[in-house]
Amino acid sequence: MDFSVNSRSQILQKLQTTQFDLLVIGGGITGAGIALDAAARGLKVALVEKNDFAFGTSSRSTKLIHGGLRYLKQLEFALVKEVGSERAVLHNLAPHLVVPEKMLLPLSEGKSMGYWLTSIGLKVYDWLARVAPQDRRVMLSRRETLKAEPLLRKDEIKGGALYAEYRTDDARLTIEVCKTAAKMGALLINYLQVIGFQYDTNGRIAGVTAKDQRTNKVFPIRSIVSVNATGPWVDDVRKLDHTISGKKLHLTKGVHIVVDSRKLPIRQAIYFEAGDGRMIFAIPRINKTYIGTTDTSYFDSKDKVEANDKDITYLLSAINTTFIDVTLAQTDVEATWAGLRPLIHEEGKTESELSRKDEIFVWSSGLISIAGGKLTGYRKMAERVVNMVLTDYLPHLAFKECTTDRIPLTTQPFQHFNEVRAFKKSIAARFEGCVPDSLIDYLVFTYGKEATSILDHAKSLGQLNRNSILKAELHYCLQHEMIVFADDFLIRRTGMALFDAPQAKLAQSEVIEFLNTNQPLK
Ligand code: FAD
Repeated sequence: MDFSVNSRSQILQKLQTTQFDLLVIGGGITGAGIALDAAARGLKVALVEKNDFAFGTSSRSTKLIHGGLRYLKQLEFALVKEVGSERAVLHNLAPHLVVPEKMLLPLSEGKSMGYWLTSIGLKVYDWLARVAPQDRRVMLSRRETLKAEPLLRKDEIKGGALYAEYRTDDARLTIEVCKTAAKMGALLINYLQVIGFQYDTNGRIAGVTAKDQRTNKVFPIRSIVSVNATGPWVDDVRKLDHTISGKKLHLTKGVHIVVDSRKLPIRQAIYFEAGDGRMIFAIPRINKTYIGTTDTSYFDSKDKVEANDKDITYLLSAINTTFIDVTLAQTDVEATWAGLRPLIHEEGKTESELSRKDEIFVWSSGLISIAGGKLTGYRKMAERVVNMVLTDYLPHLAFKECTTDRIPLTTQPFQHFNEVRAFKKSIAARFEGCVPDSLIDYLVFTYGKEATSILDHAKSLGQLNRNSILKAELHYCLQHEMIVFADDFLIRRTGMALFDAPQAKLAQSEVIEFLNTNQPLK
């Protein structure tokens, strides 16, 4: 079925009349990945999300597809090997959305990472992740490091390293996985909350009770297996099924801030050590630079997670003490976001020491819950869950292997990154003088080859300008990406509220009006 807002009533209808093999609760990257994997293996799958897809942590990460260099320090070799190797797989599945980004790691006098230890660590990192020879780490002299990033404090730098990572848009990655799952036959819907479970006479879960957040209508959904992939909400959903015993989640908050790139004109992505030893990313993205992250235990509302003054001051001070001629103030911060890491609690460990490994919990009712993990590792996490579902819950179905490493994550896939570059060049030439290069970059990074249909549609509206492009984007997201509310579009489909906050403010009333006039109400 189409992943369109117009299909909602049909999807709601089908959810009430179908018996599913698998029901996935939660439309973040973990749930979306499970839905795609299961649908690709021929299961009858539904996914329900109580907010918008990617509303939770999956739109609030550092937006890197990375191996997690710092997990090496924690001796998590298996984790680094798995997520490190996944980077190239995800790049191949969506080369426009998982984009190579060299990371500069400066080494400073008096900081924890020494030159030789870093050199060996990065070598192990590349080896574990099977990084191609041309992408392996390069150690830099002091002079080379300062040439790569002249804003670094000259008196402190001893040397540095350049190593390969990938940047992405986490929410878009989640949406593309959802769209691909829908194409493979899964039924996915946002704004539908699971509020309880249905049981058979043996006390085994036989489905859920769901509530439509827009109409308050409550109805049951029948399914042989239910998977709880609700990230930070995993324990809340476990509580709907039983009193929690055994392992629990430990939520930690991570904050990012966005500034104009003219305020922090770094030449490339950089991963540096703050005064307190925490590692911080500063990542350029078109005309902005974003900086993060913090890591503090969190006990407040999971539905409204925000950066506070203390978080922002901490990040500003880390930047101001690391770079010369940079004095960022609170007023320079154009946008912020904050997300929760759904980590597994371990007694006596600090926030940063907690493992980022994923874990699967199974309860006697049959409820499968998955928590922890990384955006980068979502495909392998999904593979493990679907393997378990097939072997332990659906043995009457023939076991099929996971194929998601070969299923492109876009409607019109690019074969490789050079094709993305050539495509960008060709549409930049076609719309030269009408559409600035930065807007072309944004459209291709966001929509891939669909950028052309969006630009053509905008042109057909009369004039080709930011306003007609916005309308064409809205039209596209309504038809193909199930936007319901303005924030779905401004935050999670386009990232505009994060990376072009002034434009998002200008566009907000128009977006609301467009949705009110073009969207079926129920
Ligand atoms: P979520 O994305 O939170 O999804 C859970 C969904 O379940 C939510 O959308 C929620 O609305 C829904 N839900 C909850 N209750 C219900 C219910 N009752 N019914 C229906 N739906 C429900 N990983 C990386 O690989 N790279 C990074 O750069 C990176 N940076 C990070 C930075 C920060 C600050 C944080 C916090 C995490 C970072 N991570 C990163 C980790 C990564 O973002 C997470 O592991 C991942 O996004 C978790 O996805 P999820 O689907 O499990 O959870």
